[in-house]
Amino acid sequence: MVPTRMRSARFLGDGKIAIEEVPVPKPGPGEVLLKTSYCGLCGSDKRLFYRGAQVTPGHELTGTVVENGPGADLPLGTRGAVYIHRYCGRCKFCRVGETNRCINPPGGLVGWQTPGGYAQYLVVPAANVIPLPPDISDAEGVLLLDTIGTAAYGIKQCVRHANSPARSHEAAVVGCGPLGLGSYLILSSMGWEATYVYDPAQARMDVALSWGALPLAPDDDSFRSRFAVVVEASGHHKARELAMRLVEPGGAVLFLGENDNPWTIQPTPELRRKDCAYIRSYYFPISAAQENMDLFRAQADRYRQLLHPVVPLDALQEAFEEFAAGKTLKPLVKPNPE
Ligand SMILES: [Zn+2]
Ligand SMILES: [Zn+2]
Repeated sequence: MVPTRMRSARFLGDGKIAIEEVPVPKPGPGEVLLKTSYCGLCGSDKRLFYRGAQVTPGHELTGTVVENGPGADLPLGTRGAVYIHRYCGRCKFCRVGETNRCINPPGGLVGWQTPGGYAQYLVVPAANVIPLPPDISDAEGVLLLDTIGTAAYGIKQCVRHANSPARSHEAAVVGCGPLGLGSYLILSSMGWEATYVYDPAQARMDVALSWGALPLAPDDDSFRSRFAVVVEASGHHKARELAMRLVEPGGAVLFLGENDNPWTIQPTPELRRKDCAYIRSYYFPISAAQENMDLFRAQADRYRQLLHPVVPLDALQEAFEEFAAGKTLKPLVKPNPE
């Protein structure tokens, strides 16, 4: 039985979150109502934590289908991860499966322009529910999205570009938050045995080192122009510049980290004379969902280390404060007690 009222977070700005009681939304045509299982905190949400948000945020989530709107017919009880990028299914990119490149998205992103997962229920298009298999839990399903999906898709594009027969077999990851750590695990699953990592927070870097990553010293000149693939996973301008120094000629830099502030690129001789690719990527095609599950299965124990702590909706304020202070990696909110 779906209740008529639910609890939902409102991001007021200035680092304040209020939990409010609001009506449970009704699914429209082609949509389903999900009962939220888990919603992961994301570094990109920090901007909303400080500046406030028009709708309830939360874009890394899993839930259970509890109601179909007109024309939607997912089996009730389906457990799924939410693909946040609404896509038309008809444009030239959607027709070849590149839903992340949809040029006529019917509405905005879940958790950004439409209400997201820091609430007990939410409405999403049925086509955006990625059903979870029995061996992947609702909590683990959160990792299939940004942590694995976004990182894996971007890295695959880098590898396509960094294809010189003379290329280095070393990769680097700048920033060891969940996206950087996910990137490290994906590189290792793809056979990159020498991956160097850097994060100014030693505790975060230590997680990657415990998995076999090698430490990168940003000021050490021996790392300059050395790596075929460099993933920038922090969004900090200095980190972006470091990534551009680290990439070798013929290599590719993947810019995954986000930052609202203007970024000026200084076209130094070094930058002008290095033939390489700069790739910006933010999400993955929904057709990659199965591959993302396989990547999770390949190193499930390591991915699970990121998921901590699990808190109720009432503790979202404290969870964000700890997260913003860099004390946690991928905290999960569980808005429904059962
Ligand atoms: Zn995210
Ligand atoms: Zn489309």
